[in-house]
Amino acid sequence: MAGVKIFDTTLRDGEQSPGVTLIPEEKLAIAKQLAKMKVNVIEAGFPISSDGDFNAVKMVAENVKGVEVAALARCRKSDIDRAWEAVQHAENPRIHVFIASSPIHLEYKLQMSEDEVLNNAVEAVKYAAQYTDNIEFSAEDASRTGTDFLARLFKAVIDVGAKVINIPDTVGYAVPSEFGQLIKDVKEKTPNIDQAEISVHCHNDLGLAVANSLAAIENGASQVEVSVNGIGERAGNAALEEIVMALYTRQDYYNLDITQDTTQIARLSKLVANSTGITLQANKAIVGANAFAHEAGIHQDGVIKERTTYEIMDAKTIGLDHNKLVLGKHSGRHALKDFLEKYDYELDQESFESFFKRFKDLADKKKNVSNADIIALLDNELYDYEKIYEMEYISVLTGKGLLPTATVRLKKEGEIIQSAACNGDGPVDAIFQTINELTGIEDIKLMSYKIDAVTEGKDALGEAFIAAEIDGKIFTGHSSQTDITEASAAAYIEAINKYLVYTKNK
Ligand SMILES: [Zn+2]
Repeated sequence: MAGVKIFDTTLRDGEQSPGVTLIPEEKLAIAKQLAKMKVNVIEAGFPISSDGDFNAVKMVAENVKGVEVAALARCRKSDIDRAWEAVQHAENPRIHVFIASSPIHLEYKLQMSEDEVLNNAVEAVKYAAQYTDNIEFSAEDASRTGTDFLARLFKAVIDVGAKVINIPDTVGYAVPSEFGQLIKDVKEKTPNIDQAEISVHCHNDLGLAVANSLAAIENGASQVEVSVNGIGERAGNAALEEIVMALYTRQDYYNLDITQDTTQIARLSKLVANSTGITLQANKAIVGANAFAHEAGIHQDGVIKERTTYEIMDAKTIGLDHNKLVLGKHSGRHALKDFLEKYDYELDQESFESFFKRFKDLADKKKNVSNADIIALLDNELYDYEKIYEMEYISVLTGKGLLPTATVRLKKEGEIIQSAACNGDGPVDAIFQTINELTGIEDIKLMSYKIDAVTEGKDALGEAFIAAEIDGKIFTGHSSQTDITEASAAAYIEAINKYLVYTKNK
């Protein structure tokens, strides 16, 4: 059975979402999770665009195995050189070059003729071919380009070595039957198409990115470009989880082999939401909080009698076996190690010891510890980046008629820095004010602050999530603890640490 290649561009197109800043270590953590899910290609960035992007691509290329890693480049030698420099050490590196092909882009953006665009594309693919034979070529704004020119352009780049030709609906203008027809026409009109793979890259401006991608698959596309949670420029890209679950759930219709590990979806989605600060609408397909919730009594009754009466998917398929109780107070290192192995987490000895201690603390406070609790605790350890500030001590004094006052002691690069006490409008504000004073970073605008319970019950772990604007860029932090003031402070410090790592990288 044939399959469809999943090309994930969360780290490139997704990172172009308004307000998103990811430090290279966050990109690496996301890339590792993508590899666990067994996507086929990870587009890790656009190396010429910034040093941060270059470093991130290099880090992903050097550290993430079992997956192709792509780097984006315009049809320019300097772009291609930089892309190769970043991606060359990947197990299977790919150079992805693009140039616009539609009349509107040619006239206003490029001010080039069709022949000039074609020559440019051919030269770029030839140039990239001296580095690798794994070359993808994209005709930007393809859905608004005539099929005659597309076919001429694709024939020319395939002749000089392009192995994948990508047909993007860059502006999200296409509708499904028309986009499917476009793929079919390009296939028919490009004489050497059997030497290349057809890929599509759909944007969601009309909410049709997934539908258009599926129509393309039915008409001969064998690679789809997607992003986790559908993030990306403007309304975003086709959502990875929706495409994969559509193909999986309707295997009877598409008849395609699914080689991806769907059980990684929930974790991947959460990781991307936490790192980018783009939270999910509750009714988001597959990964929204309500995606598996039933409200109407008649539905609940049906699901209790037989799940498939109202559920077409099993939550377990996407990795939500949340409330299962797994470990308790008496579980030791061995049980915890088994858990980590089962869920494919790798911790070095030092992280394991610190994690074990936190697990014990939690098990002391809660009688039973669930899957979700442990995974939430583990997510605290996820980014292996330089933690410039660490929390040593925190206390908050608050109550009716009291002026909330926080006392915080931090460790900076191993050394304890003076505790300080500040007042605030409320207890959380008091904590943040104190941390601002201790770190000397005063210009922090809190964009979002959220507390959620990880599981049910009054002894549940509290998860604090923060998105803060520092120096015009948005950084996120999150932490799960039994004490929500502690979790809030840790999340706030994480955002500050990421900002410091980011400025250091620049
Ligand atoms: Zn795009």
